Amino acid sequence: MDKSPSIKGSFSVTESCCCPPEAGNTVCDLPAQNFQRPHRTVNACPECSKTGKPIEGQTIKALLSVSLRQVQDIKYLFCRTRTCPAVYFSTDGEQTFTVGQVRERVYQKEPEAEDVFVCYCFRHTVSELRAAAPEDRIAIVDNINAGINAGQCACDLRNPQGSCCLGNVLSMIKRLEKLAFATT
Ligand SMILES: [Zn+2]
Repeated sequence: MDKSPSIKGSFSVTESCCCPPEAGNTVCDLPAQNFQRPHRTVNACPECSKTGKPIEGQTIKALLSVSLRQVQDIKYLFCRTRTCPAVYFSTDGEQTFTVGQVRERVYQKEPEAEDVFVCYCFRHTVSELRAAAPEDRIAIVDNINAGINAGQCACDLRNPQGSCCLGNVLSMIKRLEKLAFATT
């Protein structure tokens, strides 16, 4: 049963999600495929007022650097606004965890920082993607897909957004390709 998307050469960010649970498929940004998503909560970040992205409970527990005594059995959302210091907030608006309280640097908050991971499970950084030739970028995407298909990812525990990085990687490659096209 091979459900791997054929991404080779066609960097479409509208690929549907084909990730397993360990890649956080229930909270993936890519369109759902063959599974039911839980109902999405619509809640605004108390800091920037933008709608947060649902995460699973284990994500906030794995990623926080503060005592987990502070984490309650309630819903938390991820804020992906670049300029906003909040990373996680509770849907009741009572709790906010900022970048300084998270064990990893967050790609969405520092998308231009050289040594920040785009892919946390397989350790691909912004600078690596930037420096890579087009064919090497395809190889990186293939490597990530191979890891996902082999069940080696743990995006729900490693990636602050709690879901697969593929959408971020593909849109970053698209941005880089556009830039290269504009400068040639
Ligand atoms: Zn925010």
